[in-house]
Amino acid sequence: MGGRIVFATGNAGKVKEIQMILEDTGLQVVTMKEAGIATKIEENGTTFAQNALIKARTVAAAGTGQDIVMADDSGLVVDALGGEPGIYSARYLGEDTPYAVKNRNLIERLAGVPDERRTARFVCAIAAVLPDGKELLCEAAIEGRIGYEERGDHGFGYDPIFYVPEYGKTTAELTEEEKNRISHRGKALRLMKEELRRHAYIDCK
Ligand code: IMP
Repeated sequence: MGGRIVFATGNAGKVKEIQMILEDTGLQVVTMKEAGIATKIEENGTTFAQNALIKARTVAAAGTGQDIVMADDSGLVVDALGGEPGIYSARYLGEDTPYAVKNRNLIERLAGVPDERRTARFVCAIAAVLPDGKELLCEAAIEGRIGYEERGDHGFGYDPIFYVPEYGKTTAELTEEEKNRISHRGKALRLMKEELRRHAYIDCK
């Protein structure tokens, strides 16, 4: 069908993942930078969904009005910590603090917490603003538990401490394909693809 999705991220890894999932839509996925949009985005929402919408609306307002604009917001929600780090996952203990430090800190904060109360989830919200101004919003999660040590070196961020019982592995021990199949972002993107089809923006299978 042609057309373009401008994704509100500077993260090339995310764009690659999104391109893979949306491959059969005929839509090209580009970053804001590639689309020539350099607007500053203030993430001041209180939920993943609000932040995703804020990002998508800001980029849509700065764009040509002819593209589909998409943005995501994601993070780790730890039940025993009252939902922390949540929407502050990237900023937790400081944006530039290495994840080895952030991960060790979360493990320490959960010292003495038994298996059944170490439940956590990665959540991802994806928002889209369509050329006609319509807004779409999808959210998905993957359930897991916080481990007792870092394991695996795939993925990024909190992956080494996010244990998925069904796989007996952390998400850092899964291959990229395995993680995409079950991840919060993979699921939310597939839901978004479904929404785009419903709104006749794509005609893929
Ligand atoms: P975002 O780019 O603003 O959505 O930030 C999401 C933050 O949540 C990342 O910087 C990570 O700290 C964390 N996060 C989100 N998804 C994942 C994941 O799949 N693995 C590990 N950490 C994640």
